[in-house]
Amino acid sequence: MDDIRSYTPDELKKILEGYGEKPYRAGQVFSWLHEKKVSDFEEMSNISKEIRRRLAEDYEIYRLKTAEVLSSKKDGTKKFLYELSDGNLIESVFMKYREWNSACISSQAGCDMGCAFCASGLDGCVRSLRAAEMLDEIYTMEEYTGEKIGSVVVMGSGEPLLLFDELLRFIEILTCKGGKNLSQRSITVSTCGIVPKIKELADRELAINLAISLHAATDEKRRQIMPVAKRYSIEELMEACSYYFEKTGRRLTFEYALMEGFNDGEEDAGALGALLAGKNCHVNLIPVNPVKEAGFARPDSGKARRFKVRLENFGINVTIRRELGSDIDGACGQLRRKYR
Ligand code: SAH
Repeated sequence: MDDIRSYTPDELKKILEGYGEKPYRAGQVFSWLHEKKVSDFEEMSNISKEIRRRLAEDYEIYRLKTAEVLSSKKDGTKKFLYELSDGNLIESVFMKYREWNSACISSQAGCDMGCAFCASGLDGCVRSLRAAEMLDEIYTMEEYTGEKIGSVVVMGSGEPLLLFDELLRFIEILTCKGGKNLSQRSITVSTCGIVPKIKELADRELAINLAISLHAATDEKRRQIMPVAKRYSIEELMEACSYYFEKTGRRLTFEYALMEGFNDGEEDAGALGALLAGKNCHVNLIPVNPVKEAGFARPDSGKARRFKVRLENFGINVTIRRELGSDIDGACGQLRRKYR
């Protein structure tokens, strides 16, 4: 059965109208689901018994089961392992920043993109998540920690642009007044670079942030570590990125995982600098999280800093990602694999 929380306010209206109920009731049901976060239709006390019964007959509310939580003693980062209704496992991360808390959520159980350095893709993708499941990653985190989440990054396992419609539903519900009411600007979606979907997203003209997992500045190198690069060239990707910026006015972020001896050299920095110079963007350098099966190591911090300076010499805005939760880590997707 479908989780009713995957439906937008307009869709809820149609469902209720189908039951012969007044459409304004949709707002009340929405608030029970996304503000009060009930787990049972019976709790919706201002909705008639008959409608509650019909809803319960046709839909379910499935709250994620928290299978495990790892808490960092250093910085308050928490890694959540959740069990979906069909027993699949996903990971999310709660991060504390000075001004707000951030949630990094998964969009799929596993991943099919097969990037060589990533643990999420080692066993392929089992299935994409529904909007309700992505929302519940956040809701459950807020309940568990007792803290509000101020920004969301769709940067856990999975390729979010492959579940395009469901992702848009998730964003719409997350930014609804009657629900969590997050601003679009507080949401970041990260993609390995599905070019046609980047353009489609641009056409929606949302104010969300887009992060592109680049990791190499030449097609030749990128193809060695990211199968998606065989489908779309860096030139096509850059063109889609420019289009996204034109349409939305949102500055893009390029993610670049530094891998010792592979993409962290002087020439690599030069190629990346030449590629991005003059573009309105931000580069996030991430010392790679070593995944046992992948065999990539991170450069020492001096080398990472030199890479950063070289890029800055091209006039590019660069940060080295601050490491959070290093004591509970294991790279992306590793907790799930360990558990299985
Ligand atoms: N599929 C999307 C989102 C999930 S991956 C994407 O590719 O962007 C989220 C980010 O983590 C990506 O930038 C990805 O390249 C990066 N990542 C994956 N494995 C990593 C590792 N072992 N070390 C550092 N970054 C990694």
